[in-house]
Amino acid sequence: MKPLNADLHCHSTVSDGLLAPADLIRRADANGVELLALTDHDELGGLVEARAAADEVGLGFVDGVEVSISWGDDQTVHIVGLGIDPTNPALGEGLRQIRSGRDARAGLMAEELDKVGIHGAYEGALRYAGNPALVSRSHFARFIVEQGHAKDTKSVFDYWLAKGKPGYVSHTWATIEDALNWIVGAGGIAVIAHPGRYRLSRTERRELFGAFKDLGGRGIEVLSGSQKDEEVSEFARIAREFGFLASRASDFHGPGESWIDLGRLPDLPDNLVPVWSQL
Ligand code: AMP
Ligand code: MN
Ligand code: MN
Ligand code: MN
Repeated sequence: MKPLNADLHCHSTVSDGLLAPADLIRRADANGVELLALTDHDELGGLVEARAAADEVGLGFVDGVEVSISWGDDQTVHIVGLGIDPTNPALGEGLRQIRSGRDARAGLMAEELDKVGIHGAYEGALRYAGNPALVSRSHFARFIVEQGHAKDTKSVFDYWLAKGKPGYVSHTWATIEDALNWIVGAGGIAVIAHPGRYRLSRTERRELFGAFKDLGGRGIEVLSGSQKDEEVSEFARIAREFGFLASRASDFHGPGESWIDLGRLPDLPDNLVPVWSQL
């Protein structure tokens, strides 16, 4: 049987994506996606529009979210929640709390960028975000490209915004306990997002996966837009060992700003249980 073209991780203009929720749905449909989850960062505001557009074109839709957590020694980890109830009060309030820290963080980032010659970055990033509670490093990256300091958003991260670079400001996000409680409490399945992107040793990674599982986490993105072939094999092994469900997740943010387009990842490796079999 032909595997389902599922893509369970992407972003709209409601967080740091470039397409409005309905446009994202139409692009997914045009690309042959059969089941899509919208997973904006710490925000549920695009789900109603996305679901309505998905119903219109006959695309399967999953309510999702990507929650930012702090882990270990100043690491940021992302946990995707799939099939959450968007009206769940504890989830809504928890996400609101995470978002409330973004504005002050953006001010600190702009101060640091100012010192290295990038001026007006707070106002510039806010222009792209539209809302101080949603301002992210992606919006800073767009402003910095616009100002001619870098050729594309990826190089902005390499020079200014990644951990250890001049514009990086450490930040406290949710705890892993909170994130899992919110997602599971809202009836969702928690999935570790892009596991290859964390700067963790093998031992630290296993600690993260173990803690995640103990708290009710059930899935891992074996396929992610930013993951190389050898990482896919490694996370497929991890999924089998820990008994995790496997996800297929482009993490699409917009044309020209993404690793891969919607619905274009390869099929999952063999002998894995797809997370969508449980949604
Ligand atoms: P924030 O939540 O404000 O820390 O912003 C994180 C966002 O920045 C991620 O969700 C990605 O969209 C983007 N991002 C992080 N690292 C990179 C990178 N190396 N290249 C391009 N985009 C990145
Ligand atoms: Mn993002
Ligand atoms: Mn992420
Ligand atoms: Mn993402």
